[in-house]
Order: sequence, then C-alpha cells, then structure tokens
Amino acid sequence: MRRTFHYAIPERLRGVLQAGSRVLVPLGRRQVTAWCVGLVDRPAVEDPKEVLAVVDPSPVVDTAMLRFTRWLADYYGASWGEALEAALPAAVRHGAGKAVEHRVSARVPPEELRERSRACLGRAPARSRVLGTLAEAAEGEVPLARLLERARAGPASVQALVRQGVLRVERCPVRRDPLEGLEVGATPPPTPTEAQEAALKAILPAVEAGRYEASLLWGVTGSGKTEVYLRVIEAARLQGRGAIVLVPEIALTPQTVRRFVARFGSQVAVLHSHLTGAQRAHQWARLASGEASIAVGPRSALFAPVGRLGVVVVDEEQEGAFKQEQRPRYHGRDAAVMRAHQAGCPVILGSATPSLESWNNALTGRYRLLRLPGRAAGSLPRVEVVDMAEEFAEAGGFRLVSERLLEALGRALAAGGQAIVLRNRRGHATHVHCPRCGHVVRCGACDVAMTWHRRRGTALCHYCGAAREVGTRCPECLAGELLYWGSGTERVEEFLAGRLPGVPMGRLDSDTMLSREAYEKVLGAFERGEVRVLVGTQMVAKGLDFPGVTLVGVIGADATLNLPDFRAAERCFQLLSQVAGRAGRGPTPGRVLVQSFQRGHYALEAAVAHDYEGFARRELTYRRSLGYPPFGRLLAVLVHGRDPARTGGFAREVARALGSALGPTVPVLGPVPAPIPRLAGRHRWQCLVKGRGLADVRAALAALDAVSPPGRDVQLVADVDPA
Ligand code: ADP
Ligand code: ZN
Repeated sequence: MRRTFHYAIPERLRGVLQAGSRVLVPLGRRQVTAWCVGLVDRPAVEDPKEVLAVVDPSPVVDTAMLRFTRWLADYYGASWGEALEAALPAAVRHGAGKAVEHRVSARVPPEELRERSRACLGRAPARSRVLGTLAEAAEGEVPLARLLERARAGPASVQALVRQGVLRVERCPVRRDPLEGLEVGATPPPTPTEAQEAALKAILPAVEAGRYEASLLWGVTGSGKTEVYLRVIEAARLQGRGAIVLVPEIALTPQTVRRFVARFGSQVAVLHSHLTGAQRAHQWARLASGEASIAVGPRSALFAPVGRLGVVVVDEEQEGAFKQEQRPRYHGRDAAVMRAHQAGCPVILGSATPSLESWNNALTGRYRLLRLPGRAAGSLPRVEVVDMAEEFAEAGGFRLVSERLLEALGRALAAGGQAIVLRNRRGHATHVHCPRCGHVVRCGACDVAMTWHRRRGTALCHYCGAAREVGTRCPECLAGELLYWGSGTERVEEFLAGRLPGVPMGRLDSDTMLSREAYEKVLGAFERGEVRVLVGTQMVAKGLDFPGVTLVGVIGADATLNLPDFRAAERCFQLLSQVAGRAGRGPTPGRVLVQSFQRGHYALEAAVAHDYEGFARRELTYRRSLGYPPFGRLLAVLVHGRDPARTGGFAREVARALGSALGPTVPVLGPVPAPIPRLAGRHRWQCLVKGRGLADVRAALAALDAVSPPGRDVQLVADVDPA
C-alpha cells in the first residue's frame, strides 16, 4: 500500500483537521485509522467519501516529519503509513502509558528456577523459557515486558507461575523523568585541542548559517569526538536551535548520558529502549513543547520532535545496529543525513573506523573529512596477536585461553589494573555433538545448532528461543558420549574464574543483562574496581571508558571472518579496533592480546597496526572489483514460508521477475537458501540484486510490487542497503 487516497472534509471538520493528524475514514467496507498527509482544494477523484472523525485534535507530526517520512518510505520501499508509525513511539500514538511498571522477581532460589524450567520443558515450553530466562539474569528484578520479550512468552505463563507461588509481580511506580536523580558533577569543559579547534572551525559556520553540510569526524576512541559534538551543540543552542544525537543503543551507558546532562542539564531528553511507555511519552512531550531541545538516543531518536534542528550527530556511524530490521528497514545513519539535509543543518558522522560507505564519501568529497589524531587522554594500546595454531601445537590440543593471555591477565591484575575479555558468543558451548555418529543437537524449528547454556541446564536456539534438555548420551545413536564444543561467554567466565581464583568477575551479555539496573550495577562495580575482569560479548567493546583497564583479551573474534558476508572483514576489523580502544585510557599504557587462527589476514594485521587507512584501501579495492557497496547498491530479497515447495517456487518467480525487469547488465544472484535456511519453521530463500545505482534498486522495488506471493503464508521481505 504505497498509495494516498482523497477524502472530503465535512463542514464540521473544516478548519479543525490539519495535516499530520490521524483520521477515521471508510475504506471499502471497513473503517480505518489513516493519516491526513495534506489538504488540497480539489480532490483528484470524483465524489470522494467523507472523513468520519478526527482522531488527533492537533497534529502529532509536523510538516517536516511528513516530508521526511515520505522520503523514508519511498527510499526503503515501505508505505508512508509504516514510516509514520515508525516515527511515533507506540506510547505517544496510543496516548501516554501508565506511570507504573510491572516488575517480576523470583520467590525461590535460582537453582529451583532452573529445576522447574527443565521440569516443564516439553509440557509448558513458554513457562519453561520464562523460568530459564529469569534464572540467568544477573539482577533478580526484571521488567515484565522485557522478560516476556526475551522469553518469547505471553503474560499467561507468568500469571500461572505467580499462582504457583514461584514468581512475584509488583507494580512499581516509575519516575517520569529517567534523568531525575542522575548524579552529574559539573566539571568545566576542557580547552579544545588544536585538532578539535580545527574541526570546530570547519563545522561551526554551517551551524551559524543553518546550512546542510556533512562531515566525517574520524578519530580513534578517546580522541575527543564527543567533546566536539558537545561544542557544536552548544553553538546550535546559542542560535536557539536543538540537536539530535544518535548513538548505538549499547553506547547509551550512564557514562555517555552523564556527559550530555552535565553540559546541557534538563535540555537533554534521553530515549533509550529501556524506557517505559510513560517515560518515553514524557521525553517526547518535553521535546515537542520545546522544554528540551537535545534528543539523545538510538536510531529511532531520528524522529524526535526537535523543532528547530541545529545539528544532527551520528556517533559510531559504522555501527550495523543503526539499521532497522523491521519495516521500514531504514538505516539510521543514512536517514540522519537526509533529515539534516531536509532541515537545512549540518550533520556530523563520527567514528574511529568509518564505514566504507562514509569513507568513500569523504574520499570523493561528498563529506568533509575532519581528523582527530591521537588520544586526548591516554595513549593507543599495543596490540599483539596470539597465534592459536602455534599454541595448539605446543599444548598438544585446543586451548580456550592461551597461556600468554593468562599470564598477561595475571600481570595486569597484579599491577592493580583491570581487564576486559571479549568473546562474541553467549552461552557455554556453541554446539553439542556426538563423536560416534556425528549427530549435532539442532533446533527442531530452525536449521541451526543449539547453544548449550550450562547454568540454565538446557540447550537453546539463539534464533527462535526454543529450549531443549540434553544429557550425556547422544539422543540419536544412544551410545556416543556427547561433546560440548566451542565456547561462549559463560564458559570463558567459568574458565577464568578457575584460573584466577579470588578475582571478582562480571559478565556482560544479553543473557545476564535483562534490565538496565543489571547493566548499571555491573558497570558501576567495574568502575569502582570491585569487579576486576569483565567478560562479555560485543557489549564490552563499545562505549565503555574506564581508565583502570590496562588489558584487553579477545577470544576468537576472527571466527566471523569466515562468514559468507561481504562485510565480514569490515566487521572483524571494527570490533577489534573498538575493543582495543577500551585499553589504556588512563595513565598506564594498555595492552591488547588477540587470539587468532588467521594470523596474516589483512583485517587482523590492520587492526594490530591501528591502520584504518590501509584497511580501507584494501577493502575498497575488493569491494570495487565485486561491485559491492559503496560501488554498487544492494537490494536483498528474502522469501519465507512454511511450505518448502511453494516458498522455493515463489523465490524463483521473484528472481525471474527481477531479472527481466533489470536486464542482463544488473546481476541478480539467487535464489539460494538463506544463511539460516529454516527459521522458526519457515523456509527461507534469498536473492541479491547488485544494482549499479539507485535507479536499479528502484526498478527492482517496482518489479517486486508486481509479483504477489501464492497465498498468505509466503512472504517477501525487501531490504534496501542491507547491513
Ligand atoms: P571520543 O568521543 O573520541 O571517544 P571523548 O570526547 O570521549 O573521545 O574524549 C576522551 C576523553 O578525553 C574524555 O575523558 C574527555 O573528557 C577527554 N577530553 C576530550 N577533549 C579533551 C581536551 N580538549 N582536553 C582534555 N581532555 C579532553
Ligand atoms: Zn530455533
């Protein structure tokens, strides 16, 4: 539905109805809520039907937002309505939510939760997931909404457990303003360094003139980029204008928030995903009324009602998390550039390791490149590769953590430092298999190996959430003794606890971090030095600024290099650079040890040498030769459905339609089975259009509009600029 319709405005609503309000209108035989996107004197159709009622007494989006969402829908092949819906938080759309939040806690110890979880595995899977999820959480009290979302369960399963006396649900009043009571020490802003001064000098004229201009602010972590953002925002404020600052969700740590609040006080509205509906609606209203003028949040903050935009900032612009994985599948960074363009204000993209797209834009002069060399405080850490093939040969077998890393850990801790260990897989063992018959424990509904979660005592599917009990014997041949292969954060933590007795550790992954409180508690303990070693997934790689960290260890970050993804090298390089940036932010120089089986890979070598430019040069050559972004534009098409034959058949039809619409010069790859060929019981096929430019992508979207799936079950997902 990419169309707009005309309706007549009855006498009683004339002068009342404005563009940007929702209305009730007849559509066929139904009545639907629709957006009034504009008023015209003459309808394009004869005898239009009448608007029945106005839902919003005053517009809920302004004309700038109408224009922006229209572009967004158009560009990403979504409907305007979907884009408008993405623009308004549900709580704002449905009227502000209640100022209470339901929180769940256990009335029995964690062991009993686990036992009960296993006991009702087959009989009541949702209940089992609720119990298991809660047992793994680091903090006892969890918001109900989050628990249900993580456990993929409905409220009924929690109610049943409350009746059994296992869980307790409490209604807790929430502070309307999540920033209330946040302690911020007002430290005077530092004097800008020469490089910061130069960057400001380049950006500020556009702020003062209210002119669009894109800058890529390139500087390693700790080089003082945030300080530049703060100063630019200050300048915008002096012009009576506001700002939008996009950060990856994960970087919305209390640390980041505190810095903005310390500088701008109540002018800041923070929009992270842990807000309750009421809190979100409150922050939204503060921005809409002009009481606050600086929106800080993840990609959805792009739609924040900042009236007069003075600057848009995208920090860590290379982050894949800016891409929304539901319709409309927009990329927060690219959409931010358009938002600034439409608003007539500068946009700053900041990164230590820019995306190849932005880097290329800087090379070709579309973006201005501003560089912050070196660190404002501290120095760059020394990065070393631990060759695991050598370790393997020496130790006569596989080692999870090398002797070299263990020794370095011991030394760093003895010297009073702290350490971060990255293992970008959660769980205990990444797969369970039988050495006798080769059987691998797989999810019944997805084509993936299940991950063993030891504390929880079950294997889990990381894609659909299904849980299953596995014993010591192979369920297939009934003879082999199962092996638990591959290691996640849970096993790494356990291993290190065994080798470093008495050293307090913390774990940061999406299993343990079910609430914002849990996250803040672990980080708080780490900040105070009560936790000395922090083990975690990519959660530990981003945004953390702890001067006490002198050592970073990386376990198997290069495993992703083998994934069939043209961004694999870029992702690996970025993750390594990011996590390395956590070390040596204080006076003591940092050291980083990367365990790898792929010594010699250019992504790894470049990360070791802190050589972004060298990496980008190689990577761009490769991308150019294969027509990948930034030298081509991709459209990924996914077809999924329950019936394998009908799904596959439709995927072939889609590929044919794309092929004939685009002609022989535009490669259409596929259909091939998706990397996960079956997910939650649905078969998945994909096609990839390697467009030369935007026109090819548009032609492909038009071709997709013309094919229709064979029935409701088969669905088509089109993803423009897939991440
Ligand atoms: P980035 O955003 O690039 O990671 P930050 O802006 O967070 O860098 O700066 C890193 C650290 O250096 C912070 O603790 C910050 O307070 C400090 N800092 C930034 N600019 C200056 C400056 N001009 N003088 C002294 N310290 C600075
Ligand atoms: Zn599954």
